[in-house]
Amino acid sequence: MLNTGYNTESPLAILKSHFGYDNFRPLQAEIIGNVLAGQDSLVLMPTGGGKSLCYQLPALMFGGVTLVISPLIALMKDQVDALNANGITARFINSSLTAPEIGSVQTQTREGLVRILYVAPERLALPGFRRFLQGLDSSVGLNLIAIDEAHCISEWGHEFRPDYRNLRQLRQDFPAVPVIALTATATERVREDIIGQLDLQQGRVFLSSFNRANLSYSVQPKGNSWWVLLSLLQSHRNQSTIIYCFSRRETEELAEDLNDRGLTARPYHAGLEPELRRRTQDDFIRDRAPIIVATIAFGMGIDKPDIRLVVHYSLPKSLEGYYQETGRAGRDGLPSECVLFYSYADKAKQDYFINQMETDTEQQRAEQRNARQKLDQMVDFAQLPTCRRRFILEYFGEQWTEQNCGGCDVCLAAGEEFDATEIAQKVLSAVIRTGERFGAVHIIQVLTGSREKRVLELGHDQLTVHGIAKEFARPELREVMGHLQARGLLARNEGEFPTLSVSQIGREFLKQRQRLTLPLLKSGGDGDEQPGVRSARNGSANGSANGPAAVLTDYDQTLFEGLRALRKRLADVRDVPAFVIFGDVSLRHMAAAIPQSPETFSRVPGVGTAKLEQYGPQFLEVIRSYAEANNLPDRTAELSGRQRPRERDRETDRQPPERRRGTTYDTTRELLAQKLSISQIAQQRNLFELTIIGHLERLTAQGVTLDLEHLLPLPERLDKIREAFSVCGSDLLKPAWEFLGDQCTYDELRLARIYLRQEGREV
Ligand code: ADP
Ligand code: ZN
Repeated sequence: MLNTGYNTESPLAILKSHFGYDNFRPLQAEIIGNVLAGQDSLVLMPTGGGKSLCYQLPALMFGGVTLVISPLIALMKDQVDALNANGITARFINSSLTAPEIGSVQTQTREGLVRILYVAPERLALPGFRRFLQGLDSSVGLNLIAIDEAHCISEWGHEFRPDYRNLRQLRQDFPAVPVIALTATATERVREDIIGQLDLQQGRVFLSSFNRANLSYSVQPKGNSWWVLLSLLQSHRNQSTIIYCFSRRETEELAEDLNDRGLTARPYHAGLEPELRRRTQDDFIRDRAPIIVATIAFGMGIDKPDIRLVVHYSLPKSLEGYYQETGRAGRDGLPSECVLFYSYADKAKQDYFINQMETDTEQQRAEQRNARQKLDQMVDFAQLPTCRRRFILEYFGEQWTEQNCGGCDVCLAAGEEFDATEIAQKVLSAVIRTGERFGAVHIIQVLTGSREKRVLELGHDQLTVHGIAKEFARPELREVMGHLQARGLLARNEGEFPTLSVSQIGREFLKQRQRLTLPLLKSGGDGDEQPGVRSARNGSANGSANGPAAVLTDYDQTLFEGLRALRKRLADVRDVPAFVIFGDVSLRHMAAAIPQSPETFSRVPGVGTAKLEQYGPQFLEVIRSYAEANNLPDRTAELSGRQRPRERDRETDRQPPERRRGTTYDTTRELLAQKLSISQIAQQRNLFELTIIGHLERLTAQGVTLDLEHLLPLPERLDKIREAFSVCGSDLLKPAWEFLGDQCTYDELRLARIYLRQEGREV
């Protein structure tokens, strides 16, 4: 065979010139070395690990043609576009092309003009295509065969493709050409199957950790899911999000509810017309639809690198599924969030379907047992008192030894504390002032300012401690009291009605004005500061393994948005997804380093020679004019000389934690007391108006009296709303809204409902 175009540059030089990166990710250099030595390789790496580079870079060094087998027709064009944008000639052949188009790609390839050729596996069964490959090998040289999504060859995998069996023949046709098989599926059985089917016995296996360091995991109770979901979406505004639901109907309903809220959400499920499905998927990839509400039918064939949030609105069937679906987040290595909503009812729903499974044969009974076991493991995960990351990794047979992963809700709560001195003093004082004769329930009522009959009868509303801890929710106070008991400050006196008293330690604590810190409270509920959200904001933890988790968190937001807009314009003109131009990692680096010359611009990760030439001028123009207007220097040198970004992240992590989650309500309440409008409060707090209204709902539900007069509609309008509520009920807003024939906004209705309920006018 003839090898055209051998590249004499070093792998590291090619990494920079063609891909724009300075260093290899873990294992990449070893794998590439093995491939260049002409050996077979099996690569097991999680999504986002950087698998593609392991064959794309050798393709450039080998010259000739590298053949890539990929099952995902929808993805091929994007992959090829991305390579071409990096100045690497790539083409694809699949059923989306016409016969003349295929002919032209084949001609170009035979002429040595194509370095990487993507094909769908079914092609390999066609005799004509096999002859084409033979001819190729004896002309330009077929130098490497890469098999992407290699688990598709195994019936044990979750995505078995019969067409992948054609690969055995391919292997026999070209016994001397090295093969690299790649997959993100880790199970032992699938791995052995790939080795057997592709005859890779002589090859090396490269197994990397399956930890997705840039993903944070959290589980939320389903009770307040709607509000929590809204605040999650708010903190991920304009970012790609997938929300997985249980049923087709659920996806449609939830998408509609979100649209009612002014969010752009699209449903996706297998029941939609194929054309609509394709369009929805495309709109998502092209950043026209940021939120997809989907069944698990969505995701296969999506390798959008910048999905920042994956929500499971109902319980997945298995941890494999969960890992795979959450795995679609943060492919580019930037911090991304995975939130699961859990309720027992969801488990029961799944149980119901498992009970419906046929059980006539032993095989069917085994399948049912298997389904049940997988569901139980999923429930265990949802109810876990320990690190969720560890549970996932151990499930896949990997050891995890770190004490605190820093990126799951359990570890985050365990690691953070707040100064509880004041609330502890208040609780102990309330116990003393009420005579140490009452249990937790009564103490909490006094602390929150309840006007229950018994509180009034006892005259406890007259005590100075009445209402001094109003800003805490009852479950939170209960949690604080549990801690005080555990630390011996409060003593519990057993009896028919257990009562609380202050111990000697507690009295010393008060007398000597000691300080006390407690773990962040878990029972906060539906605020906008769930642990998960916080973790993502802080850049999630231990990005050690996945290179670009070296995230710049302190980039210029306004400049970033400007660059994003330019990227979108360029992408639309070229009819490619935005990430083909530059990924978010590159844009964040630009917005942090503010490079103002081609030289410093070329040092941004992701900027290789081709992109520097093609896009450099336009991006530099935006950066320069912004820098000029705001008097900003080029910080490239400063940034490369300073501590590594990762270490900076850690520093921000160490800033004093918020005292506790409830404080957000206090702030809203204080601003309301200054007679600010909802939109003014929202602006000041940088939150959505609906979040602020959510705060008010929650405060009144806790028995806090709010001064709302200045927010109300005119009296006659309020009367109309009240009438609507009395006719239609007020638990759901939609009926009243429809009754009023569209005259009011939902927010107006919600405010009126808060007011009417607070005033004790039954609605
Ligand atoms: P996988 O196929 O394993 O899911 P990809 O090959 O798509 O992962 O790579 C994930 C992301 O990481 C891409 O945005 C890619 O450009 C980037 N990447 C790959 N290798 C490196 C590297 N050495 N340095 C920086 N980024 C890299
Ligand atoms: Zn953890």
